Amino acid sequence: MLIDKHHILKEKLKEVFGYDKFRGNQEAIIQNLLSGKNTFVIMPTGAGKSLCYQLPAIVEEGTAIVISPLIALMKNQVDQLRAFGVEAYFLNSTLNKSEIKKVKKAVSDGNAKLLYVAPESLTKEENVEFLKTSNISFVAIDEAHCISEWGHDFRPEYRRIKSIIGELGDLPIIALTATATPKVQLDIQKNLQMEDADLFKSSFRRKNLYYEVRPKSNSKKQLIRYVKENKGKSGIIYCLSRKKVEEIAELLVVNDIKAAPYHAGMESAKRIKNQDAFLNEDVDVIVATIAFGMGIDKPDVRFVVHYDTPKSIEGYYQETGRAGRDGLEGRCLMFYSYEDILKLEKFNKDKPVTERDNSKILLQEMSSFAESSVCRVRQLLHYFGETMTENCGFCDNCLNPKEKFEAKDAMLTVLLAIKETGQRFSMSHVSDFIRGVKNEHILSYGHDQLPTFAKGVNEDNDYWKSIIRQTLLFRYLKKDIENLGVLLLSEKGEDFLKNPISIKFTKDHEYNMDEVSEEESTDAQGSNVRAYDENLFALLKALRKKVAKEKELPPYVIFQDPSLEEMATVYPTTKDDLAQINGVGHGKVLKFGRPFLDLIAKYVDENEIETAMDVVVKSSVNKSKNKIFIIQQVDRKVDLDEIAESKGWSMSELIKEIEQICYSGTKLNLDYYIEQILDDERLDDLYDYFMNANTDNISEAMEELGDDEYSEEEVRLVRIKFLSEYAN
Ligand code: ADP
Ligand code: ZN
Repeated sequence: MLIDKHHILKEKLKEVFGYDKFRGNQEAIIQNLLSGKNTFVIMPTGAGKSLCYQLPAIVEEGTAIVISPLIALMKNQVDQLRAFGVEAYFLNSTLNKSEIKKVKKAVSDGNAKLLYVAPESLTKEENVEFLKTSNISFVAIDEAHCISEWGHDFRPEYRRIKSIIGELGDLPIIALTATATPKVQLDIQKNLQMEDADLFKSSFRRKNLYYEVRPKSNSKKQLIRYVKENKGKSGIIYCLSRKKVEEIAELLVVNDIKAAPYHAGMESAKRIKNQDAFLNEDVDVIVATIAFGMGIDKPDVRFVVHYDTPKSIEGYYQETGRAGRDGLEGRCLMFYSYEDILKLEKFNKDKPVTERDNSKILLQEMSSFAESSVCRVRQLLHYFGETMTENCGFCDNCLNPKEKFEAKDAMLTVLLAIKETGQRFSMSHVSDFIRGVKNEHILSYGHDQLPTFAKGVNEDNDYWKSIIRQTLLFRYLKKDIENLGVLLLSEKGEDFLKNPISIKFTKDHEYNMDEVSEEESTDAQGSNVRAYDENLFALLKALRKKVAKEKELPPYVIFQDPSLEEMATVYPTTKDDLAQINGVGHGKVLKFGRPFLDLIAKYVDENEIETAMDVVVKSSVNKSKNKIFIIQQVDRKVDLDEIAESKGWSMSELIKEIEQICYSGTKLNLDYYIEQILDDERLDDLYDYFMNANTDNISEAMEELGDDEYSEEEVRLVRIKFLSEYAN
């Protein structure tokens, strides 16, 4: 019998899908389901889950119901099956009445082999009644982790699935997911009342993926450099908000990278266009919210970047899994900042209490993963309940190992603390206990009376949490699956208490976040304030002084300090490069550029510096929209008051915009306006001032000139005129 089935299945596999062999557990899973047993499949993304229900649906009589939360992808999945000649349909809120009728007819006629249903359509009374009368072969529950509130993608409607399936009769269930921690796994089985199900769990290990976490500082620049290093390769960049997606996609585009955005808020035609452009390699990089990639099977994605710190390890691992599906190179880079974690916690504020607590735990797991210097792969697999006895040897932590320290005593303290407090508490309580914190919790349990209380006062919370995490990772502790967050001693831990041995732990990373705050490493004028080459800066300043003297102009008219700093950061050696520097336009390059370029070229050569010109972060487009608008209006000699009003700006805001335009090297002729507000004498007076001043600082100018004599606006406008004439 089994032999027969084997032949039939293999034949169909070839006939319908064109594959010669099953992959991994596929056949065993299918056989199990076909023999009427409940089946639970945990397989990483890309391993071939769909086939596990599609093929049996084809060989069985009747219609298989496939429950999936991804309405947006249903049509796609159904189209794919139809392309193979399989009669598949879907039922969800996007269909109109007559379409629904058609679908139902195909099911009643027994033609439909698969019916994809959204959970909220499944729970509709009329649909339940209809399905009761139909011939259903089995039920597949895709993305089954959605049923668990302990996971990262909880959908409350999933909770009602089991009772509805019950109404349809005694049908075998196949549940499938690409992410399940041991806790979520148990939860899925409980909720579907399929504790008896046969479990098919494949390893989550993906040996071709390189994992790396970097602190999120100066991240725009890092990102551009990273993408340019991977030039011509396909990549996905995940951001957490739609706004960020738009912003980063624009940033990449203005930096000459073929990139496009993708998020749920976009018009669907545009979204599909961008997705296709990515699949067809018309764009290299797609910048997306997490919605992108589910159900999309591009085998040669070479890198996946998490530009924002992700919400959970589950989601993160699934998303990184979209890299290197073909088994070749796949690089996974995450930018981590604790500020992101705090931001995400804030978003959870309005969620119901349990959901909020769960999200918080997921976030804590995320931040310990990022901060830990233990092998990334080892941590990830441990999170999903797999054991690795050795490090991967290939991730950032393995390649740049941190110093190890003897942790025997520290671990002993942790194990004792957990044992003494009755193995009922979570990490933060244990850490408080060890550090001798006398909070309400500790006191109410009388924990301050126990021997290990306050044994670790000399180290801080981060230290103890890191010790606890590593104790867990090396399996001296285990997580209580029933009670989220609670830590228990493992057998190995009990043994250690009896016979403590030497054990080496590694120190966590210290990501110093105040060094350069987040990605916005640009000041008002958009110049980079990252540490610059001070020697070169000094040389540039000296040159500026010399040139200023020759031209009889104040030095700041030549180049402003931020421009010199940027030159001393990115070492421009061509006219085009120089024009990229903030505050330097082509006019300035022609007027003053040559000696500066020569100086930099010489310096670069002598000091064997690798120029980083390719990572100048060109400023983004919104600003330039205003810029174009202002330039056009000024060209038409529109009164500044009117320009300001039409944009809803104050005069001072408008002047600020104009200053930026002027500082970035564009000439603006404001004479038509200045003539209206200043007579010749006063104008000359201000001109004289700027010609002889040491700086163009406005407050100094106001002090010198007297604010009863000139308004700040007048002074600023004249400064713009002055700089436009002499500096640009
Ligand atoms: P998952 O749902 O697990 O992420 P899919 O079901 O989308 O993965 O399958 C991933 C890819 O593997 C698809 O392109 C699919 O056609 C292919 N695939 C599945 N099973 C086989 C097989 N037995 N032989 C060859 N390719 C397969
Ligand atoms: Zn490693």
